[in-house]
Amino acid sequence: MCHRLQLQSTIVTKLRSRHFPFLSRYTPARVSFSSFSCGRDLQMEEGKVALDLLVADPALLEKKIEAIRLAGPQKLQVIADFDATLTKFWVNGTRGQSSHGLLQQGNPEYDAKRQQLYEYYHPLEFSPTIGLEEKTKLMEEWWGKTHGLLVEGGLTYESIRQSVANANIAFREGVSELFEFLEERDIPVLIFSAGLADIIEEVLRQKLHRSFKNVRIVSNRMVFDDGGHLVSFKGKVIHSLNKNEHALDMAAPVHERLGYVDGPIDDNASIKKRTNVLLLGDHIGDLGMSDGLNYETRISMGFLNHNIENSLSCYREAFDVVFVNDAPMWEVIKLVSRMCSSGR
Ligand SMILES: [Mg+2]
Repeated sequence: MCHRLQLQSTIVTKLRSRHFPFLSRYTPARVSFSSFSCGRDLQMEEGKVALDLLVADPALLEKKIEAIRLAGPQKLQVIADFDATLTKFWVNGTRGQSSHGLLQQGNPEYDAKRQQLYEYYHPLEFSPTIGLEEKTKLMEEWWGKTHGLLVEGGLTYESIRQSVANANIAFREGVSELFEFLEERDIPVLIFSAGLADIIEEVLRQKLHRSFKNVRIVSNRMVFDDGGHLVSFKGKVIHSLNKNEHALDMAAPVHERLGYVDGPIDDNASIKKRTNVLLLGDHIGDLGMSDGLNYETRISMGFLNHNIENSLSCYREAFDVVFVNDAPMWEVIKLVSRMCSSGR
């Protein structure tokens, strides 16, 4: 297993330099599998294997890039998951917080109640013995109860602001530059999440220090009263197992909250006309984010954050490009710039 992985890396490195000359100045990765299942045998010397990026079928990827390039940027949209895709998996040496996990509602009793729900439902979410239908019901139950506790516990917008300020959460390097590149070309970015839209917007505001008129959040959205107290949630609950069903219908412009009033925003209909997709996710299930779209060409990029040894072959089959080692977005930007270039 270990030798195979090392061999794969070598092959990919060779393929990469042959097919992706733009990746040749690529920083050798910090690679250590010591915390994963293979233990010490898999420990690799620092900088020995460049493994940040893996492409299973370079020729197919080239073909897709060319198809997207020929169709032009007006046909392209980006669909991205939020937690551990746009944000880093490791932050300050520990597991980064998720948009849901970071929330402290300023009421210890209710924070504890939500934690109890997490401890009960989280193992069920990943249980191999529970069928999808039953699991979906359990997730609806979990999200419903959690949202109920947020209302009942008197969550305020100020608590969200404070929670984000205190959170151990960070964007991958290059996320801001990626959004900016896409904004300059009027390419929409839809961020799909089973978390909370209001928190994601606050994270964008506090961590990126700017807003983007091309970015929309598709997630659970809160309704606050004039005093800034949460009173309800808009629409149907989006949980981990149904987030793909709602996708395009629930897209709402992030600029509403961020004070942008200028510039045309694509409505959902025109988003559906953008038939080429760049999809970014960190779970195989994230591939379903483009299900509501009859896309012509899709390039999928997967961020494999943990259990790498066991999941690598599966991710390489599922995604056109796989990133490991909490990779920054620079290579994504390079690939996108090729999709948007006017000549070869
Ligand atoms: Mg995620």
